Amino acid sequence: CGIVGYIGQRNAWEVIIKGLHRLEYRGYDSAGVALINQDQLNIYKKAGKVSDLENFSDGKNIKGAIGMGHTRWATHGAPSDRNSHPHTSGDGKLAIIHNGIIENYATLKEELISRGHHFNSDTDTEVLIHLIEEIQQQEQVDLLEAVRLSLNEVIGAYAIVVMSEDHPDQLIAARKGSPMVIGVGDGEYFIASDASPIVEYTKNVIYLKDKEIAFLKRDELLIKTIDNVVHSPYIQELELKL
Ligand code: GLU
Repeated sequence: CGIVGYIGQRNAWEVIIKGLHRLEYRGYDSAGVALINQDQLNIYKKAGKVSDLENFSDGKNIKGAIGMGHTRWATHGAPSDRNSHPHTSGDGKLAIIHNGIIENYATLKEELISRGHHFNSDTDTEVLIHLIEEIQQQEQVDLLEAVRLSLNEVIGAYAIVVMSEDHPDQLIAARKGSPMVIGVGDGEYFIASDASPIVEYTKNVIYLKDKEIAFLKRDELLIKTIDNVVHSPYIQELELKL
């Protein structure tokens, strides 16, 4: 039910965990984080509270300046460690977090299973990351294009963030129906379900619109629609509510 993403030079874990705590008021049953450190994707996820995830990850490798975190409110698949987000592709290189519902996940899952995909969870979300992997391989396109083409196959509501071990300098975010805000820092970007995880770092934000995809690097931002129309980012200043 909550999403936080970070790319920059800070310790991503700290930004993400703090942000997930700020989004706790939305309610959730599980939490998870993905980080890339030295070109390796590390995922920590747990049913329970964000504090349970923190205890679980204590002493593990939680380094990295790029990452994403999720609080889940289960819709498809019981609350459990394996159904918690992030979910990964078959080769383990891609990871996704998702708020919302992929309504046609059963049809897509059947098709992907017939193409040799194996699934590790009962979620609708896992289907989407396998679809992105499949399209990337079939069409020989880059990750952004694979995400865009995949979202054209999806019926439902979503806010997603995707990361790839092969592209440790990129975050891809998209939304339809579920909210998503991008915080614009100096050589860093923040992503969140609402502005509360972002305010302490920057007042400059972009409210992603329905069917927009954001491609983020530390010093680069591209926004396009799932119909492949490039949009120039509209940066707004957050008003401080006292
Ligand atoms: N439908 C997804 C799931 O059940 C995401 C739920 C959410 O919005 O947290 O895993």
